[in-house]
Amino acid sequence: MIKTLGKCHFCDNGEIEVRQTTVDGKKIKLYACSNAHWSFEHDMAELTKESTCSFRIFQNALLRWNKKAIGEREIRTLLADEQVKVRLYSSRAKKEYYKWLVLDEEYGCSVVWYVFIDPDGEQDT
Ligand SMILES: [Zn+2]
Repeated sequence: MIKTLGKCHFCDNGEIEVRQTTVDGKKIKLYACSNAHWSFEHDMAELTKESTCSFRIFQNALLRWNKKAIGEREIRTLLADEQVKVRLYSSRAKKEYYKWLVLDEEYGCSVVWYVFIDPDGEQDT
């Protein structure tokens, strides 16, 4: 049975499913719309003709900011509230910090860099 986390925001009847995929030889989760399917050829993923949506978030989408994986609970919140607070880590400053993550049609999700979030969890206005 396929686990779903919430409604897709970019098509009419899509549900975001938890799938398994392999990237660079590593098994990771892919959160993808039920109307989006890819065929893989070599390392290129191509959207199939039947797909009416292309929305997906890779579990490791925030790896560059030292967040190893986006959890299913975070995806649920992101779909329900259109934003979720994520904990990132600065290897330069050697400390963690928080940012809002929002939905992005092209990239799946994107970090809102210009909003400062207080480490105590209160948003600075
Ligand atoms: Zn969709």
